Amino acid sequence: MSAAGAPVGIALLGATGSIGETAQRVVARHPERFRFAAMTANGNRDALEAAVSRWAPAFVGLVNGGSATALPAGWCQGTECLVQAATHADARIVLNAVVGAAGLEATLAAVGAGKRVALANKESLVLGGALVQRAAHAGTGEVIPVDSEHSALLQCLAGRVGGPGPGLLPVAGVRRFIITASGGPFRTWETERIRGARLEDALRHPTWSMGRKITVDSASLANKALEVIEAHVLFGVPYDRIEVVVHPQSIVHSMVEFEDGSVIAQLGVPSMELPVLYALGYPDRLPDAGVPRFDPVGTSPLTFEAVRHDAFPTLGLGIAAGRKGGAAPAVFNAANEAAVARFLGGALPFRAIPAAIELALTRLGDRSGDDLDALLAADAAARALVQEYHAP
Ligand code: NAD
Ligand code: MG
Repeated sequence: MSAAGAPVGIALLGATGSIGETAQRVVARHPERFRFAAMTANGNRDALEAAVSRWAPAFVGLVNGGSATALPAGWCQGTECLVQAATHADARIVLNAVVGAAGLEATLAAVGAGKRVALANKESLVLGGALVQRAAHAGTGEVIPVDSEHSALLQCLAGRVGGPGPGLLPVAGVRRFIITASGGPFRTWETERIRGARLEDALRHPTWSMGRKITVDSASLANKALEVIEAHVLFGVPYDRIEVVVHPQSIVHSMVEFEDGSVIAQLGVPSMELPVLYALGYPDRLPDAGVPRFDPVGTSPLTFEAVRHDAFPTLGLGIAAGRKGGAAPAVFNAANEAAVARFLGGALPFRAIPAAIELALTRLGDRSGDDLDALLAADAAARALVQEYHAP
């Protein structure tokens, strides 16, 4: 994007989170190319104020500002801030780094307004993939993934994206996607021990430092289920051509096997700065020396293992929901969000996450997902069910 002209405006949704802070580090190294035109956060007013005084965006939104003290003049408050920031005239790129289904409306609005959405908020595509595709096909908006595995797939597919076909970034000639998973903190644990894992165990991710929700998702492998669905929606590749393999070092971020049998992989140190930069600059590669360099000998050996589906039932539940379609992916996502929130709050044990999701899919998985109202109703029903769930 814009090398010679004025820096491109970015709306950063979720500016105070893990990806939001990563994005600020990346943009700080490229002031001639990028600037922040809008910033939002959920409730962390102090962190948002610090970011605003540093970047001076034209639009600031605090979604959940409370009522204790008045906000600075001009700040937007409430959920509508997200859509306002996502459609702001001064932003050409919307970096959606909100966590959870709360990010969907902004993704839809940004795509509808012709923006590039640099998408970290994978839940958007799991909940509303078909709607986002419809919005993209109807106009000039586009979605470029920030998730490291999907950034890797896009990089492996360089020059082959576009043309006819399903998906937001249609591809031809792919035999198989091989999506890597670190395996999380419980990779080597016995199944019974995983079922009783404590919160502090789940929050100890071996290779990535991330927000709490995605860290728990990485421990249960719900994150990998969300990513399989995300890959299907983004690239239109059928589920039977998407595989997951455990790769504990998190150096190979994913691989594409082509029709001739050749496999291309993307490698790098586990840092989200690279996929953020790639999504902002796509299809260009921008010169950047900020990310630690890859050292093949130092990271050796690189190993791969089969997924233990019996120990991590959430992965299979999510992929089955993706295959089923309709409202099932929305139910999976919402049930997972609600169960993880209760696990984080100490109200449910770890083993209840797959159990609550399975119950929600059994009760609600056959619902249709034809439009936004139907999807949001399924999402709400799944949350209500899991809220009342008692672990046996
Ligand atoms: P985080 O919890 O660190 O940050 C979330 C951000 O969103 C915060 O700024 C918060 O204020 C805001 N937010 C939270 N709830 C909101 C709501 N209801 N409305 C508006 N804003 C809200 O999360 P994160 O780790 O940065 O992850 C953000 C997204 O990126 C998630 O979808 C996650 O799956 C995805 N992702 C993250 C990583 C990573 O390394 N952290 C990697 C890949 C994908
Ligand atoms: Mg990922």
